[in-house]
Amino acid sequence: MKDIQLYQQILGLAAPWQVESVALKPKEREIEVRVTFAETLWACPQCQKRMAIHDYEERRWRHLDSCQFKTVLVSRVPIVRCPEHGSQTVAVPWAGKYDRFSRLFERLAIDVMLECSTRGACEILGISWDEADGIKQRAVKRGLARKTPKVMARLCVDEKGMGHGHDYMTIVAQAEEGQTTVQYVGEGREQESLDAFWEGLMAEQLAGVKAIAMDMWKPYVQSTLAHVPGAAGKIVHDPFHLVKYMNEAVNEVRKSEHRRLQAQGDDILKSTRQLWLYGMENVPAKHAQRFDEIKELNLETSRAWAIKEVFRNFWRCDTAKKAGRYFGQWYSWAIRSRLEPVKKVARMCKRHLTNILTFFEHRHTNGPMEGLNNAIQGLIKKAYGYRNKERFKIDIFFHLGGLALYPIQ
Ligand SMILES: [Zn+2]
Repeated sequence: MKDIQLYQQILGLAAPWQVESVALKPKEREIEVRVTFAETLWACPQCQKRMAIHDYEERRWRHLDSCQFKTVLVSRVPIVRCPEHGSQTVAVPWAGKYDRFSRLFERLAIDVMLECSTRGACEILGISWDEADGIKQRAVKRGLARKTPKVMARLCVDEKGMGHGHDYMTIVAQAEEGQTTVQYVGEGREQESLDAFWEGLMAEQLAGVKAIAMDMWKPYVQSTLAHVPGAAGKIVHDPFHLVKYMNEAVNEVRKSEHRRLQAQGDDILKSTRQLWLYGMENVPAKHAQRFDEIKELNLETSRAWAIKEVFRNFWRCDTAKKAGRYFGQWYSWAIRSRLEPVKKVARMCKRHLTNILTFFEHRHTNGPMEGLNNAIQGLIKKAYGYRNKERFKIDIFFHLGGLALYPIQ
């Protein structure tokens, strides 16, 4: 009798539900808690009209363990026959309609899955992979359904590979003070991939977008111009991508110069790849002397590096006007460098200058997205790459969507 009262309290059961019996099954390492009720009239879950019990359905729910014993709730749940909605199993307070887990258990499972891989969570919780996946899918579905349309002033758009082959996904994130959340995951990296995001927003939301950081990727630019009012002044080609292009240009110059020098028996550029990619201020102390020596040699690579470093300073300008002038000077230097990879990046920047200079007005970058990208990379690693796009989406929303995932208590 005591354990009945105990479980009645632990479960927080209120009338008409009550614990009928508690049975310890040592072999299964399981505690079975039978729950019954004292009520003859039950509400149809569709229309809430109360009616007499028509039949019963015996159901089981996995609940939070009690002292390492798997704990299972069992109850004969009333079925009513509603004139309007037919046979309906009535709602129980501890679990959702078709769920095989109590809400508290689902909550725990969500917490565990947020911390570790699905496999790891299965082991800790003693549930199957499909069950864990089901809990995760329901959580995301619930979270997405609870979202209310809001204005998102600062957005970041980027593409992301799924870790297998050439499957890309388009990701839109909202950068808010202190938190960046994924708002959209679309298939591919075409114009339509992003169109679907804009088309899902209301006119007020589209008008409320103030700045969108993205790479100079034409399909994204086109899609944004087609949907967001005043987009021409809101698209920001962000420093992260642009500096990355400059770094790649430096690396290309280094590679071909190294090949050339090596053919003449000169190994000066050997194993220097990373050195040139550091920002001037970040070159590790142990490499500083060697780097200074190489830099002083009249190498193409050191010229490319200098042009890259000056380009990094461009982002420190305090107004768009100053930045425009700075860019002009940098451009004429870069274009006379006789370094093809560098010239190519310089021309590309010039073509997109209008939406590069928007940075100095909005001060918005894809920086917040970089953190997300690392987190997504972690998910890809944990999942050993994603072959299934739907699963990739679910995982991103589960971990990075900022959603309210828990079932309502
Ligand atoms: Zn009904």
